Amino acid sequence: MALISCPECGKKVSSSAKVCPDCGYPIAQCSSKVKIKIAEGLLGTVKVWDANAKCVLATCKCGEIVEIDIKRETLISFSWGLGKMQPNLNTLMKPGEKYELCSVNTFFSSKFIVRKIDVIDSM
Ligand SMILES: [Zn+2]
Repeated sequence: MALISCPECGKKVSSSAKVCPDCGYPIAQCSSKVKIKIAEGLLGTVKVWDANAKCVLATCKCGEIVEIDIKRETLISFSWGLGKMQPNLNTLMKPGEKYELCSVNTFFSSKFIVRKIDVIDSM
């Protein structure tokens, strides 16, 4: 059983609760997952952040599909690498949508971007 923050009052609530015991906010109705496919080729561990709350929502490795629970439109950042990591690549994500963190090659270099996708293909 995971603890989440109530989107209304910010108190810790069980993710299986129907309503927030503190303020009565309907937790169950607004629960919605976002799926993110993490590209191959990233170094080390990938962390998914709530950019405003500055907390890590998920930790994964490249090539994985990660699910995060957000209750409303949330600014999500990613960081990866070894050692100390700073949030990077801010993307506004909406509950129920799918995204991928992938590399795009330009003439000179490759960089990583986050984009919304309709379907996550199985790997
Ligand atoms: Zn609450």
